[in-house]
Amino acid sequence: MRSRLGWGFWASAGWIGLVLLAAVLADVLPLARYDETLAGPPRSGPSAAHPFGTDGLGRDVLSRVVHGARVSLGVGVGAVLLGLGIGAPLGILAGYRRRATDAVIMAVNDVAQAFPALVFALAVVAFAGANLRNVLIVLGVLGVPSWVRLIRGATLTYADREFVLAARVLGTRDRRILWREIVPNVAVPAASYAFIGMAVVVVAEGSLAFLGLSVQAPTPTWGGLINEGRTLLESAPHVVLAPSVVMFLTVLSFNLVGDRLRSLTDVRESGLEPVRQAAAAPLPSAEHEVRADCLLQAEDLRTHFVTPRGVVKAVDGVSFTLRRGRTLAIVGESGSGKSMLIRSILGLLPGSSVRGGHVYLSGDDLTGYSPARMRSVLGPRLGTVFQDPMTALNPVRTIGTQVTEPLRVHLGMNRRQARAEAVRLLASVGIPDPERTLRRHPHQLSGGMRQRVTIAMALSCGPDVLFADEPTTALDVTIQDQVLRLLHRLREERDMAVVLVSHDLSVVARWADEVIVMYAGKVVERGPAAEVFARPRMPYTEALLQAAPRLTDPVHHRLRVIPGRPPDLVDLPRGCAFQPRCPYARDRCAREAPPLTGSYACWYPRDHAEVLKERADSGGR
Ligand code: SF4
Repeated sequence: MRSRLGWGFWASAGWIGLVLLAAVLADVLPLARYDETLAGPPRSGPSAAHPFGTDGLGRDVLSRVVHGARVSLGVGVGAVLLGLGIGAPLGILAGYRRRATDAVIMAVNDVAQAFPALVFALAVVAFAGANLRNVLIVLGVLGVPSWVRLIRGATLTYADREFVLAARVLGTRDRRILWREIVPNVAVPAASYAFIGMAVVVVAEGSLAFLGLSVQAPTPTWGGLINEGRTLLESAPHVVLAPSVVMFLTVLSFNLVGDRLRSLTDVRESGLEPVRQAAAAPLPSAEHEVRADCLLQAEDLRTHFVTPRGVVKAVDGVSFTLRRGRTLAIVGESGSGKSMLIRSILGLLPGSSVRGGHVYLSGDDLTGYSPARMRSVLGPRLGTVFQDPMTALNPVRTIGTQVTEPLRVHLGMNRRQARAEAVRLLASVGIPDPERTLRRHPHQLSGGMRQRVTIAMALSCGPDVLFADEPTTALDVTIQDQVLRLLHRLREERDMAVVLVSHDLSVVARWADEVIVMYAGKVVERGPAAEVFARPRMPYTEALLQAAPRLTDPVHHRLRVIPGRPPDLVDLPRGCAFQPRCPYARDRCAREAPPLTGSYACWYPRDHAEVLKERADSGGR
């Protein structure tokens, strides 16, 4: 950390510490009183008795600068805390609630930010009087819009992170998520901005003091000292230079420290801030039969996003059923809608989405559930394992607090019971020395161990369905097999169903009972995994299988790829979405979209006898 921050950061932090210490200890330091006239000869330059010299009344300039720091830094700290105290809750509310709350808060904030700050400051100080309290309040209130904007941006970033989704999947209440997951992470960029804000306030207070609108004489402030000294600029320049240099170095240091911290935690780098959208009505649903014999049933599930470029149909009319004790795999290229389908089922969608269709859990329609009722299902009945265990776990909390939380929230265990159960859970997923692991933070574990922890968390409340979204993608190849074996064993032991999202067909072929293949948000082929992989009918499934690397491939064999690129979801090709990339496309494919009839959506499905003949002709490929 030391080397990442650099010497400039540490030098600046040292200077700030020195000035703060001097301001706090100003009364006990061996200095002349700041208002003692003729403490030395008037306008005398720096000397051993008066290191910064004396002013026109013979007052010690060093003493006045040190006491001036009390006011300037006091206003800086107070105004930043006031702005943060008002702006942070509003920013978090806007970023977390989104939709109408966000729109209203940001509209008011934009208006407030457009108001001329100097006019506001002059009006308030002229009306209420120029004193420390009023200056602090004015500068604090003026900082609120910037705080709202910053905290909202950071909240938007973290609200979409997997550890927050994981907490929501575990049914944690919003207030708890905000305090335990969002606030600790938002605090980091907030701290960096606090330093930059401090610099802004110190300069603003100095400007007001220079105009005679801050704390009045004889109490010194840095801006006031500069104002007093400007008449002595030619005869005694040190009177102006001393407070100017100290103020300059302090402002520069605040900026350097804040900027260095900001560059370590820049929320804009994530690029996750979504376009704000007006709430839209749900999409209409078609008639269908509810299968009470199925554990999980999705019917005509749709998730659309309204973007400036048009409507993105991320999930478009997906239906499937899943029974207890079975594993359903969802496969497809990146961007085919696999992960968005999982989020749609769990109701973990951004506010800008529009949903349609139904999800039934043991015959109950989850899409009609209120957020509070949905929380009682997420965790106890639907568990989730995310792709990257590093982002699925909150980096600032210990494994123990994260694993015990769902046990305490959902199962009502006390601290001791939850800890004992957490130890048992970690042991059941193969973590050696679980007691010690509970005391550790996520970064202290290996990738495989972290994923085992997230699996333990997902299983903590005994879910009926476990969703595993690319659970092995972020793991070492040697660990992948262990994790998949573990999931399979746990499914057998707990008689639950598993929904496995993967782009790795070798994983799917080995562990799944049924499979659905997705392309451009739609299901293009489905059926028993063994059948689909042995005899794919849809050319896209065939292309996926051909593109999958095999253990039997020669060492320097070139990896096969599916020609072309996945389609632009805003501007899908006419007819079959796979048609521009399909080697078997004919005229009809460009005119009409093939419906999903039976197990595949294709006008010209692959004939297996033909495929075998083609392979024989091409020497086994
Ligand atoms: S419908 Fe036509 S373009 Fe689409 S996959 Fe089938 S053959 Fe290819």
